[in-house]
Amino acid sequence: MSRFLCRLLPTQGKGKIDLNFLYSLWFFFLGAAIGSFLNVVIYRMPRELSIIKPRSFCPNCKKPIQWFENIPIASFIFLGGRCSQCKTSISIHYPAVEVITGFLVVYLFLKHGLNVDFLFYLLFFCSLIVISGIDYIFQIVPDIISIPGIVLGILFQIIKGNFVSGIVGMLFGGGLILLIRIIGGRVYKKEVMGLGDVFLTAMIGAFVGFPLVIPAIFIGALVGASLGIVYLISTRQSRESPIPFGPFLSIGGIVVVVLEQQIVQFFVLFQIYL
Ligand SMILES: [Zn+2]
Repeated sequence: MSRFLCRLLPTQGKGKIDLNFLYSLWFFFLGAAIGSFLNVVIYRMPRELSIIKPRSFCPNCKKPIQWFENIPIASFIFLGGRCSQCKTSISIHYPAVEVITGFLVVYLFLKHGLNVDFLFYLLFFCSLIVISGIDYIFQIVPDIISIPGIVLGILFQIIKGNFVSGIVGMLFGGGLILLIRIIGGRVYKKEVMGLGDVFLTAMIGAFVGFPLVIPAIFIGALVGASLGIVYLISTRQSRESPIPFGPFLSIGGIVVVVLEQQIVQFFVLFQIYL
């Protein structure tokens, strides 16, 4: 498809179009389409519905969504964020997931090209987006994604020749959250961290390895604490209300992959090389 486009468009001389830009555009739409599928998984998996059949429908009036109403991002805009039948507003998280996935796929393509790293990081990011979406809406971290994700992360490290880093990352990430869960449970006499968060952090640790799992958890906790405070103040809810931690851990995991070089430089700069 992109090669076909390139032949049509002038790529040299006057009116030259940057090939990378063209590829990026194509990969953005590919990513948005993947994001559209992730939305289906986020909606259907916790409801135990098939992710293949039936075709997409409005969650409110159950009207099937026509193909032209199902174009990533664009449909949300031309429908004015509402269902064409019942006019119920469509949650902003649908186009948000599509846009985020679109940018992440462009990033992976520009950094890695089409290779094994691209494939594994894509699977990693997609898993994190689905886990975050489900945790945000249902306060559940689906083990059905995180546990196979751990295996996939270790496999990725074996391919890269970093098996030890993956295993230590997995044990450190999962172990730290498990420790917080046990101690927090004793101190506060309630569940402070779900077992799902333990598996999720183990998955992130397996994928990013050790020591990058440390900044991943740190960034996740920092973003979670900052947004948590804003959320609690703005909604004036008591501290008792649960805040899903999965989306923040996922942000931490994605940030360390995207900023890996900068984080390693930071470690070296401050002589905290592990
Ligand atoms: Zn509707």
